[in-house]
Amino acid sequence: MKDWILKYDNYSPQEELLRESLCTLGNGYFATRAAAEGSVAGENHYPGTYLAGGYNRLETTIAGRVIENEDLVNWPDWTLLRFRLENGDWFNIDAVEILEFEQSLNLREAILERRMKFRDKEGRETQLSSRRVVSMSKMHLAAIEWELKPLNWEGSITIHSALNGKVSNAGVARYRDLNGQHLVPLDTGSFDEDGMYLKVRSSQSEIVMVQACKTGVSFELYEPSVERRSIIEKDYVAQELIFEARENKAITVEKLVAVYTSRDMAIADPLCEAKKLVTRIPGFGELLRFHKMAWEELWGQSDILLKADGNNDQLLLRLHIFHLFQTFSLKTIDEDVGIPARGWHGEAYRGHIFWDELFIFPFYNITIPELTRALLMYRYRRLPEARFAASSEGYKGAMFPWQSGSNGREETQIIHLNPESGNWLPDNTHLQRHVNSAIAYNVWQYFQVSGDLQFLAFYGAELLLDIAKFWASKVKYNEERGKYEIHEVVGPDEYHTSYPNSSEPGLRNNAYTNIMTVWTLKHALLAIQKLNDRRASDLLRLMEINEEELSRWQNICENMFIPFLEDGKIIEQFEGFDKLKELDWKRYHEKYGETMRLDRILEKEGDDVKNYKAVKQPDVLMLFFLFSSEELKELFDLMNYHFDPKEQIPANIDYYEAITSHGSTLSKVVYSWVYARSHREQSWHDFKKALISDFSDVQGGTTAEGVHMGAMAGTVDLIHRCYTGIEFKKEALYFNPGLPQNVEEISFRCRYRRHWLEVKLTQDVLFLKSHGGWQDLIKIVVNEEEFVMRKGEERSFTYRKKEAQ
Ligand code: BGC
Repeated sequence: MKDWILKYDNYSPQEELLRESLCTLGNGYFATRAAAEGSVAGENHYPGTYLAGGYNRLETTIAGRVIENEDLVNWPDWTLLRFRLENGDWFNIDAVEILEFEQSLNLREAILERRMKFRDKEGRETQLSSRRVVSMSKMHLAAIEWELKPLNWEGSITIHSALNGKVSNAGVARYRDLNGQHLVPLDTGSFDEDGMYLKVRSSQSEIVMVQACKTGVSFELYEPSVERRSIIEKDYVAQELIFEARENKAITVEKLVAVYTSRDMAIADPLCEAKKLVTRIPGFGELLRFHKMAWEELWGQSDILLKADGNNDQLLLRLHIFHLFQTFSLKTIDEDVGIPARGWHGEAYRGHIFWDELFIFPFYNITIPELTRALLMYRYRRLPEARFAASSEGYKGAMFPWQSGSNGREETQIIHLNPESGNWLPDNTHLQRHVNSAIAYNVWQYFQVSGDLQFLAFYGAELLLDIAKFWASKVKYNEERGKYEIHEVVGPDEYHTSYPNSSEPGLRNNAYTNIMTVWTLKHALLAIQKLNDRRASDLLRLMEINEEELSRWQNICENMFIPFLEDGKIIEQFEGFDKLKELDWKRYHEKYGETMRLDRILEKEGDDVKNYKAVKQPDVLMLFFLFSSEELKELFDLMNYHFDPKEQIPANIDYYEAITSHGSTLSKVVYSWVYARSHREQSWHDFKKALISDFSDVQGGTTAEGVHMGAMAGTVDLIHRCYTGIEFKKEALYFNPGLPQNVEEISFRCRYRRHWLEVKLTQDVLFLKSHGGWQDLIKIVVNEEEFVMRKGEERSFTYRKKEAQ
């Protein structure tokens, strides 16, 4: 079981916030941080409960201006459970002497357990074991079970079980100047003998949430009388259970909670449903039984077996898969939500959705592609807002926002706080228009994996075409060069959002953006060919795209400008990058280590990172992450540029590696990927770095504010697609394996076009088996050898090992 359990065997107050994020429990509908029951938000604890897509907007006056922020709301704390002995203080983990402690997150069964033995000021020793679940089978339910045992005392004990609405958004220190009071209390009360509820509303978005709860207690071989009393305030409701405790006799407390909101389907009203459901659950044990079954199903489809040299690799891969399903799951397929960069695990980035989907969707594509479809629908439904955004800036088509929340409006902050210097600074990162190409790319990838022509015809093609229209209206023709250009954008490297000493935001000709634009236009044209003639002509007519426009798209593809350094080999990140100053990397590495936020460091020093050839995360190198060398060569050929992958890919990697500060956890994922073919040792090294990003909180405090979904999914994808060389293209499933030496074997299940494939890869053999699916044939290409596979078939290949450098 060691590879299934994330275990801590000591209590460490300064690590609590991090562990709370890492041990968060969720089911894609809501998630709750692992703060110990009864802990209070403060320096060492932050109990937080978040609803998928539960946003609210508030205004704050900051640095002399009124700004509006849309936050992922911290909803009432349903976990509050406390006890006290006699009339003493409420149990506080930070105020007792801890004699034994163990916390474990069981990933297979999704149960969080804590076991501790402690001694209080009066010398009384007590044992407390807790188990907590957020149900994966019944998405509205969560529960806590406690077992308390007095070890050397007996006497009166009070259990305090509450639903606490006295909460605000205060989980991220650098947002604390922003208004964080999102909830309006509506109602509290009790029902039956042991039930209570709390009803709140988010102030602007008017989402009503009801939490209803029942708390019960049972005893080992004795039956004391239990006095029950209620505490009812306008934003807080509690029940207290008072009884006699006996030495060495266990007391079991069960707190069952139901959560409903006004956004739910098939409900009369949230209060009625919450009360009804919490009354119908037979108990913790029964809830757990179905919860485990739901997780068994998920793991059956998604587990990866990894035999490699490291101790924790297998466990951390599972931890990542676990959090991906806790953020978006089968149960929430009908929820209108996207996938937030930091999960529903904390308040960082306010629950917003970025281009990180590009790193995340491949996981769902391979395991349960229906989830990708549902996530793409989040974008599809926000097309009208994206169209409005494009037209209000004078463009055509649809321009999706860099940060998206409730309705698809641009949610990127206008100013941000540098926590190093305490300064509020202008934020131009919203100019990362490349998010649009990421959406287009994700549509196409999903289509390739699933073969879901119905989705393409009714939703996907429209997304692709509207994004293509936007790019075609955004490009400018430069007469002198005879080339198309793209101005006023920012690439993935957020250190450069304008030119040094320029008051104009944005850059000219970010190579990644320009190439992704060509990719998008090319695939929008391809998508039309996939549709039947009638649907294609209807769609083009409805979207007002005529033949002339389509041939213009082709023309843009053939004449897009791509900046290169003088040697003609290195792709210049953006026009003018080469003119920037060199940075004294040695000095900064010595002082701050390998991974750093140079932007914050330099601003504090009174300088500006945009003056330097310094990169936060892969920008040009994203091209080698997204495309195989063959595909990239095809793109350059289309653009009429010479590109020699053999020579230029390694040269570009070397050039940018030397000037990258890895200021994003996405960075190591991309590096691991781009090294996978040329330098397997290095690739594995970077894979491991990416794998521990959250577990070891490599960015020094960011995981406590929410995990990094992109890095989590990215590491899984490195195993799924990178080392197997899986590509979904040209209506076939391609394999081109290349395992690092440190890996003995990997195996997993892969969904491909209505087949369930088992994939097993060792250093020299690739084994494939079609376990089930429909009767249709699938086309598979292993190292250029093409064959068809039908349901039930299996095949092994001895593949040519390419020598590692
Ligand atoms: C990265 C972006 C990413 C965002 C959310 C930023 O630090 O630079 O690429 O989209 O975090 O994860």
